[in-house]
Amino acid sequence: MKIAMVGTGYVGLVSGVCFSDFGHEVICVDKDPRKIEMLEKGQVPIFEPGLDTVMAKNVAAGRLSFTGDLAAAVDGADAVFIAVGTPTRRGDGHADLTYVMAAAEEIGRALTGYAVVVTKSTVPVGTNRQVAATVRAANPAAEFDVASNPEFLREGAAIDDFMRPDRVVVGVESERARGVMADIYRPLFLREFPVVYTDLESAEMIKYAANAFLATKITFINEMAMLCEKVGADIKAVSKGMGLDGRIGNKFLHAGPGYGGSCFPKDTQALARIGQDFASPCAITETVIAVNDRVKRRMIDKVVDLCGGSVNGKAITVLGVTFKPNTDDMREAPSLTIVPALVGGGARVRVVDPQGRREGGHLLPGVEWADDPYAAAEGADALVILTEWNEFRGLDLAQMARAMATPRIADLRNIYPVEDVRAAGFEAYVAVGRRGFG
Ligand code: NAD
Repeated sequence: MKIAMVGTGYVGLVSGVCFSDFGHEVICVDKDPRKIEMLEKGQVPIFEPGLDTVMAKNVAAGRLSFTGDLAAAVDGADAVFIAVGTPTRRGDGHADLTYVMAAAEEIGRALTGYAVVVTKSTVPVGTNRQVAATVRAANPAAEFDVASNPEFLREGAAIDDFMRPDRVVVGVESERARGVMADIYRPLFLREFPVVYTDLESAEMIKYAANAFLATKITFINEMAMLCEKVGADIKAVSKGMGLDGRIGNKFLHAGPGYGGSCFPKDTQALARIGQDFASPCAITETVIAVNDRVKRRMIDKVVDLCGGSVNGKAITVLGVTFKPNTDDMREAPSLTIVPALVGGGARVRVVDPQGRREGGHLLPGVEWADDPYAAAEGADALVILTEWNEFRGLDLAQMARAMATPRIADLRNIYPVEDVRAAGFEAYVAVGRRGFG
């Protein structure tokens, strides 16, 4: 199969690289010339573990290439994937479809023979029909079908998620399009990963419903964590006891500083908006959004309390600012709420993150960046663990405590056992949903 992938972000680049690894001929397109320039030199513009190796292998095999010329990539393609961004539209929570529709129009103008125009971006119900209308309007003679193929990969584990998915969802309306999609995903199908074929609207709904459900699960446990703190229970024990129930499952039951990232915040907002538009409010999702906001802001109070009621003049070392480990993505990370509040409160904030500096450098003004957690903790009044990178999971706590002016930790990912922290010489410890001391 010959595939054009429009958009080389976290989803488009991983999908394009993995499709080429399936043996397809893939051309990845982006309108950002800097990205194409880097990719043509064999450099990966994002941090995603393992992506560089698979990319290099398929470029060398002659199956994968990059261009800024969408028309050239679309010419002769069996399928054209749209994997551009769908951020929150300013002001109303709706998904902004400007990039999707601009891509659809350009694709329409470029189509030369039959192709399936596949939307991989996360888009509201009805968008695939709008894509079809846009392609048709741009090129009334074009021979094409549309397909909805939402993506479920997680940043940080994207290659494995793409190669070994829990499921692939394909919304199609014609046998011809279904045949093309089946050929594209055949390597997964042969390895018995489930493919769910359905209609366009259901495929679009599956993505939002799945993300809203996951965001709800995280927020539920975060709300339970708040209650645990009041009643003297330990959220880790509660999560374990709940998660062993097969109907509940143990994933996404880790209490923390609130969900962030490029998907959950915008997708929950978009779903809430869709519910309002169709006069079928998604009350649970709306509440999840509000509670998550409260959870993030509570983290600021925790740090302020740890510092004795004010962070003014305090030196605070923050470990981790990306929205989760193993990515450089900072979109909607809890750190973007918490760190500016500390800076605004008069704290001197020093930040360590293995990959966050490139993005975080612009997004977190007024902080100092460091590479080594021990050096960054030198003379600090408080340590805040915000993202559970492996580098921060096995710290020599005694060495950290010795380096600090006042050894106090806010462990907002519940990494460390309270006894270990106490034994290492810390004088105060706060976590999420668990008893601390000091
Ligand atoms: P991104 O912002 O990282 O990448 C989008 C890319 O598209 C950018 O490089 C941009 O330059 C390019 N682009 C925009 N318009 C273009 C055009 N007309 N022609 C060519 N290139 C164009 O976005 P992302 O994180 O990869 O997300 C893409 C979509 O996938 C979104 O709808 C998102 O919700 C969804 N999604 C993301 C993830 C994730 O973990 N990031 C997971 C599942 C689904």
